[in-house]
Amino acid sequence: MKIEKAKDLGLCFGVRRAIKLLKEAVNRYGELETLGPLAHNHLLVDALTNLGVKPINHLDQVQGGILAITTHGASPAVLSEIKAHHIHIIDTTCPIVHKAQNTAKELAEAGFDVIVFGEAEHSEVQGLLGWTGDKGLAARNIKQLDSSGKSLSYLGIISQTTQTRSAFIEFARQLMTMVEPKIEEMRLVNTLCQVTQRQQEAAMRLALKSQLMVVIGGGNSANTKRLVEICSPLVETHLVETADEVDNSWLFGKQHVGITAGASTPDEAVEELVAKLKFS
Ligand code: SF4
Repeated sequence: MKIEKAKDLGLCFGVRRAIKLLKEAVNRYGELETLGPLAHNHLLVDALTNLGVKPINHLDQVQGGILAITTHGASPAVLSEIKAHHIHIIDTTCPIVHKAQNTAKELAEAGFDVIVFGEAEHSEVQGLLGWTGDKGLAARNIKQLDSSGKSLSYLGIISQTTQTRSAFIEFARQLMTMVEPKIEEMRLVNTLCQVTQRQQEAAMRLALKSQLMVVIGGGNSANTKRLVEICSPLVETHLVETADEVDNSWLFGKQHVGITAGASTPDEAVEELVAKLKFS
């Protein structure tokens, strides 16, 4: 049985950069907290917790004087609240998310209603909406915009960084059709993460020539979910968080198994999966 890894997969530069910043901060200050998990992968979060980097869910849970903002970023209101409590911030916001935040802010300041194509409850999207003031709305389906109460005649469109390009284009196309009778001006800015795009394209190429795809990553990781969505229509696909979750029955009769991994999946987890499949 051939086991093949996608050409681009796994831990992205944004998460690697954040881990480096957090390790440096721990060495300098000792234990610290992150507002939410650094990324949506419990193996990664557990490894950081062992180093002294602990996630908290709300600002009122802060114990120490140092708080890290995660790769997903935060809204200006959250940043102001942290500063008001005189808490030192370690900002690990991914530069690509930071650029998307600036775009959201600039569009709102220029008078546009800002539609963020993405999952409204995701922390990155919550942060992006915060940078629009009261001019932002998140949706993954244009039907969600029907009752928005906004005029939508001056419209800015951006995307959560980890969405797929094809879904973003289709959303924008449908939105354009919906607002066309009343639109004065529309600006669409491509805020998709190119690292994620390359991983998605590599996963699709591998899925097309494999008999089974195994995606390893966090079950609540947005970019991991996109990898599953891309591979599933093409070939039998399973999502696992660790190699232990592989069911040997999936491999029966398979000659070519493909592997891809979410952008917050530790390298060791990918190698454990490769080893598990090789010796099954
Ligand atoms: S997936 Fe892209 S946007 Fe998200 S942290 Fe990694 S590099 Fe940054």
